[in-house]
Parts: sequence; structure tokens; C-alpha cells
Amino acid sequence: MNRFLKPLVVLLLVGLASYPIALAQGSKPNVFVLATGGTIAGAAATGAQSSYTSGKVTIDDMLNSVPGIRDLANLKGEQVANVGSQDMTFEIMLKLAKRINELLATNDADGIVVTHGTDTLEETAFFLNLTVKSDKPVVIVGSMRPSTAISADGPLNLYDAVAVAADPQAKGRGVLVVMNDQIQGAHSLTKTSTTAVQTFMSPVRGVVGVSAYGKNDFYNNPSWKHTTSSEFDVSDVTKLPRVDIIYADADMPSDLIDCSVHNGAKGIVIAGVGNGNMNKAALDAAERAVKQGVVVVRSSRVVTGTVGRNVEVKDDELGFVASDELNPQKSRILLSLALLKPHTPQQLQELFATY
Ligand code: ASP
Repeated sequence: MNRFLKPLVVLLLVGLASYPIALAQGSKPNVFVLATGGTIAGAAATGAQSSYTSGKVTIDDMLNSVPGIRDLANLKGEQVANVGSQDMTFEIMLKLAKRINELLATNDADGIVVTHGTDTLEETAFFLNLTVKSDKPVVIVGSMRPSTAISADGPLNLYDAVAVAADPQAKGRGVLVVMNDQIQGAHSLTKTSTTAVQTFMSPVRGVVGVSAYGKNDFYNNPSWKHTTSSEFDVSDVTKLPRVDIIYADADMPSDLIDCSVHNGAKGIVIAGVGNGNMNKAALDAAERAVKQGVVVVRSSRVVTGTVGRNVEVKDDELGFVASDELNPQKSRILLSLALLKPHTPQQLQELFATY
């Protein structure tokens, strides 16, 4: 072969051989993995001990430890925080929401995975459900066992989370949580076990779908308002108003409510007994709070069911809001965002029925 032609032929063959790889890479979705810490990034000295420290492993090490995960999507990791989610703050949630909105507004990101501790995962999931402004998939994932444990659940959870974030079928369903093969909606899921890997459940609405080794099957579309239909915009927000949760029980002391008002709460969520109930002394204190301009939301410490208006408590007369299906921790998120703007009690009630 002509000595000028030979290098050209070699170049052509090399180019052709690498074309399928380039094509495969080009056709894969781009998924950003934003890490915040938690047990999924936790480490212990041995594989068989229950004590460990959350948020020890970096996002790159986590991704590198999951076989085949980079076949699902082009992955980019970012460390947003590295805390146990008991230390999650509104500041970190705001940072996450803003970064996700920034990434999803570009063509560079097709989906987002957030790694998170499970203790307050439902709060962050619901916060993002209300504040992300895109219908592209946003998936939160955690684990119950640290990365060093025998049978750690984090790697498969992360694999499935990336598979869901890369799946166009996950679009428009609001923020999703993927753990232990299940896909659940941010509005409805809650943590139900302190230790079991099957901890998240959606007691009223059921799961959105399943993900088995990255094969997704969606059965439900959460019907609550979220993401692109949400009115909440945190692009200029740096701080949220104080909202306290007060736990009701038999013979509860009512001065906790007065104390909360005294300390500057703009809203109080009662984790009520039964259908959002509280004793007479607490009702009187809550009524005093409303008269001082504090919003009182009645939620429930019971894990399933809804809190309805005027069932045993005269909400219309006392000016309270019933939390509908939202548990106390999610009621606190919705109320904190709602209090960024003035609302009448009727408008607030409408928000609880809608989100
Ligand atoms: N305390 C841990 C956390 O929430 C528990 C977990 O991730 O499972 O960060």
C-alpha cells in the first residue's frame, strides 16, 4: 500500500472501531449525583457492627464501588454536603434545590440523583418536590446499612436510583425516592423502621413503581401538585421562617405552645393524637397563638390516614389549618415555604389539600 495511504487507512479503521463506543456514550443520559452524606456514605471499623459514622465516604468512591453503574448513564458526582441527615438544614436544602434547578435548566443534565441519610430524607424529598422547577427525574437515595457492612444495601440502591434518574418514564412524577427495589413519591412516603432495610413506605398511596437491578416498572403517578406545577420559588430565598413541631400526648403540657410563640415561631405544627387532636389546655394555647398571628396546623402522630377539618376540633372557629395527608415533618416543610408570602387561613388550607 502507498506509504501515504497506509496511515489514513489505519486512522479510518481505529475511528470505525471506536464509533460504537462513542455512539453508546453519546446516547446515554447525563445524570448528576449530588451527595449529602448519610449512612449510604457511612463507614464502620468492621462489617458486622451496628455502630458507624455517617458521611465518611466521598461521592467518587461511592460511584466507583458500584459495578456497572456507569453503563446506565454518563455520571458526574458533586459533594454538596457530607452530614448524617439528623444534621440536615434548610440551608443545605436550599443549596440543593438551587443547584438542581441550575443543572436541570441546561441540556447537560437529564436527571439528578441525591444521596441522603434516611432520617430526614422524607423532608428533603418533599422540600425538593415543592421547589424543583423541572419535570426531569430527581431521585433521592439512601441506605440503612453503611458502606462497610456485610450485605450493604447502598450499592444496589444507588444503581437503581441512577437507572430511575436515567429513565424518561420517571419524568413528570415529581421527586422520587428509590430504596430496596421500590420507587416512592416524595409526598406520600415516610420512614417506618429505625433499622430495617424496608423502612420507607407510602401507607396511604402505595408505591409509584419498582426498580429491580435497574429495570423499572412504574404503576402510579403521584396526583399532588409538585415541581413544574408548584408555586414555590426559592431562587432568592436564603432563610425560612421558624415553624415548630409540638408533639401531643396524654396530659401534654400546653406551655410548650406558648414557649414556641414566645421564641418567635411564625407557625406551629401539632403532631396531634388521632385525627390531629390535643387536650383542652393545648387547644386554648393554640387559640392564643393564632390570636397572636401564628399559624397553627393540626397534623397527626398517627402514621396513616388524614387529618380533616372540624372533625372534633372547631377549625373554622379557632382559625386552625388541618394537615390533610401530610405528616408533621412534611407539614412543617409546606408551612415554612408558604409563610414566605402572606396567606389567609383559607388559602393555607387549600395548599394543604393541594400539595
Ligand atoms: N442517621 C443516618 C442519617 O440519616 C441514618 C441513615 O442514613 O440511614 O444520615
